[in-house]
Amino acid sequence: MKSKLKGIVWMDELTLFTMALGLSKPWHVVDIRFSKEEGRLDLEIDFSKGAKFPCPLCAEEESEVHDTKDRTWRHLNFFQYETYLHARVPRVRCGRCGIRQVEVPWARPGSGFTLLFEMLVLQLSREMSVAGVAEVVGEQANRIWRILGHYVDRARRQVDLSGFHILGIDEFSLRKGHVYMTSFSDLEASRVIYLGESRRKEVVEEFVEDLRGRGTDPGQIDLVCCDMWDPYLHGLRNYLSQARVVFDHFHIVHQLNKAIEKVRWLEQKENKALKKTKYLWLRNPRNLTSEQEEQLEELKRLDLKTARAYHIKLALARFWELRDPIHAACYLKRWYFWATHSRLKPIVEVAKAIKRYWNGVVSYTTSRITNGVVEGLNSKIKTAMKRAYGFKHVAYLRTIVYLVAGKLCFN
Ligand SMILES: [Zn+2]
Repeated sequence: MKSKLKGIVWMDELTLFTMALGLSKPWHVVDIRFSKEEGRLDLEIDFSKGAKFPCPLCAEEESEVHDTKDRTWRHLNFFQYETYLHARVPRVRCGRCGIRQVEVPWARPGSGFTLLFEMLVLQLSREMSVAGVAEVVGEQANRIWRILGHYVDRARRQVDLSGFHILGIDEFSLRKGHVYMTSFSDLEASRVIYLGESRRKEVVEEFVEDLRGRGTDPGQIDLVCCDMWDPYLHGLRNYLSQARVVFDHFHIVHQLNKAIEKVRWLEQKENKALKKTKYLWLRNPRNLTSEQEEQLEELKRLDLKTARAYHIKLALARFWELRDPIHAACYLKRWYFWATHSRLKPIVEVAKAIKRYWNGVVSYTTSRITNGVVEGLNSKIKTAMKRAYGFKHVAYLRTIVYLVAGKLCFN
């Protein structure tokens, strides 16, 4: 029923919904069923009689309809009412390809949701947990995961990695110290590009294969920043031997801080003055309050093992500021001598690790790359893990990490 009232065109409901769904010929809405009791709206879509469709395979225009199959899709809610689209989807008879199912413009093949509904799910999943999304839209979480998996896979295949050449490798634990995974990141673009299932040497190979599968040559990587962890280095030697390795200096400082704390913890049993002073020794001296500074100065005057360990740490801190590799190597040698003669076992151990990975440590003076970017990505990964709360399937974890920390583009 169309009528004209003061220049406003009133259209019937079928035309209104056809337009609102963005349908174009030959598709249009032919029936609307609304049930307030069931809280749902059902829209029946059909194609015009005698319509022909292009073949989905060879794009041969004007193929005859062979038969049809009834399908249903969940669509965006109509106000608070769940909305479903129904249509008989035609199969066409193509002269070249035989009988083929036509693609409908509102949904991708095989999905029980419309494209707009899936976009909503993607949008929500960037802001909240998958369990939360499932609850908001009233769908099973597994179906939400399938939508996310599809779009994340597709977006990852479209990422342009042609400029990728600085790789950051970092481990993180899933259940505090029990299950480890490894993130591989593009340090310049600060995005996670691959998530390995362990921290064993095989993960490097898996990463390289993933890269190749995406049409990227692993040979374009010329710098790798990682922790002093033998399995990674083993994998790097085998699969990315062209790349220069730089050890993450934050990781080395972290190891040294752990060593200082071990020394302090043992010493405090005999020397009460050291109790409750853990953070005085670990914090950057510049970040101490004047009160803490005074306390530290007094402690340093006592003949303490902890104070000796602390001075060794400060000496290594100066190494990170050096930029001339020959000068830096010289400095590090002196530091090594001092540290290994300190008679402080935890400090000697860190010094020996540095000796074993010497070139990768000295490399920092010229490359100046660190995994600092990865630290930021790690906090994103933690956020992602929270979004996946209750779902520990590796495929799901990957999906959510790529979604949150992969800088993917969905279109
Ligand atoms: Zn065809």
